[in-house]
Amino acid sequence: MAITRPKGTNDLLPPGSPKLSPLISAGAHAWLTEKARHVLERAGAQRIETPIFEEAELVKRGVGDSTDIVRKEMFTVYYFGDHGGFILRPEGTAAIVRAYLQNGLKQLPAPLKLWTSGPIFRAENVQKGRYRQFHQVDYEVLGSSDPLVDAEAIALMVDVVRELGLKEVRVKLGSIGDPADREAYNVYLRGLFTSHADRLSDDSKDRLTRNPMRILDSKSEGDQQLLAELAVKPMLDFLGDEARAHFEAVQGYLQAWGVPYTLDPSIVRGLDYYRRTAWELHHEGVGAKSALGGGGRYDGLAEILGGPPTPGIGWAFGVERLLLALDAEGVTLPQGEGPLLYVVALDEENVPHAARLAFAARAVARAEFAYRAMKPGGAFKDAERRGVRWIALLGSQEVENGTLSLKNLHSGEQRVIGVSELAAFLEASSLTPPLHRSPHETHRHDRPPLPHPRRANRDPAGLGEPPPRSGRPDLPGTA
Ligand code: AMP
Repeated sequence: MAITRPKGTNDLLPPGSPKLSPLISAGAHAWLTEKARHVLERAGAQRIETPIFEEAELVKRGVGDSTDIVRKEMFTVYYFGDHGGFILRPEGTAAIVRAYLQNGLKQLPAPLKLWTSGPIFRAENVQKGRYRQFHQVDYEVLGSSDPLVDAEAIALMVDVVRELGLKEVRVKLGSIGDPADREAYNVYLRGLFTSHADRLSDDSKDRLTRNPMRILDSKSEGDQQLLAELAVKPMLDFLGDEARAHFEAVQGYLQAWGVPYTLDPSIVRGLDYYRRTAWELHHEGVGAKSALGGGGRYDGLAEILGGPPTPGIGWAFGVERLLLALDAEGVTLPQGEGPLLYVVALDEENVPHAARLAFAARAVARAEFAYRAMKPGGAFKDAERRGVRWIALLGSQEVENGTLSLKNLHSGEQRVIGVSELAAFLEASSLTPPLHRSPHETHRHDRPPLPHPRRANRDPAGLGEPPPRSGRPDLPGTA
């Protein structure tokens, strides 16, 4: 039997693939990451990359023994002669804090803003919006507990969704206070739930002893019903003076900047190292699993990992959830344009010449050539399937004259130019957006395309804008 991919994973596919959707489009993923990079690097965040697997101990301590992730969802990697296992990373924060401590990043100017993106692994029950390998964009700030840093982190998350063109996003904001506040809240919760323990799910019975706050986070319907019946007081009622002042300052900045949010007391991050601000971004279009992302302050984490006290705050977006939300809003997702130039030889003997023209044109734009000679009719059909903008048919006469007959497959425009003009022509042409959408885009009817779709295509790996070119390349026939 043919081998298929593991359950809960996706292949990210090239434009034009059968059954392509934004969720599994490699181009849409690259476009989204590039948009996030743009917003985050403009705000001073610097790229960091950590390994995809980490010591099991880092994940257990960094994510928390009482979490579902550690108790049920870890992918553990063993090898012969193993020392106890590695874990495929189930989130980004613990590894980034580890890298900060291990590499002496404290010496860089504080607060240090970092960002990363890549695959994340959780052995969850698979459903729409919930996968076993998914992708996150992650932003972390280390070295400051200033509420201005919290407010900026939230505002940047909102900036990313705006840059993507998403509209129906809600910020739900809460605070989980300082450790003493949380202890007081846990005492209250224990008192409240102990007499109803028989109605709690098995997981929540366990939480009642380990960490009662996590009951509020339970996915069990029975638990949620009990919570509603008991009219549990929110964590916000238990904030101490300092945590309250910090929370009010964060809200003050958000209000001053016009960043909309709603207070949501149900947001809980029950682990010891979480402090104060916690929030989530939600979108109705993603369904029951509506969280696009979430974040929080984790001032106690560095110490738990064996480092000195280091305040930190961060957030993560789920890339697949963002793509589902964009799809639900009917936003057109660019998945990559076809080549700007496609050179097709009309006779076999001119195929190498067509290739040489394409090689030279690549200094300016995406240029491809046909590996076999074709008749004009076949060449046009082939070029259309590839999403080509300009096709150049190359016969012996063109080669002799040093000219090119170009046709724009989107507008029908025809041009004859000298080979020496090709670079300038393509450069000018690459600045104008295609008249029609490329067949490689996902067509949606009710929205205009997002702005600057070509930015993503030029830099699909998210590595930065290409370096400035010093001059035009030599094209064949121009020397
Ligand atoms: P968390 O660390 O659980 O707060 O996750 C951060 C974000 O990652 C969530 O808001 C989701 O957008 C996304 N996410 C979490 N788990 C999954 C999953 N299993 N599949 C897809 N996206 C996920």
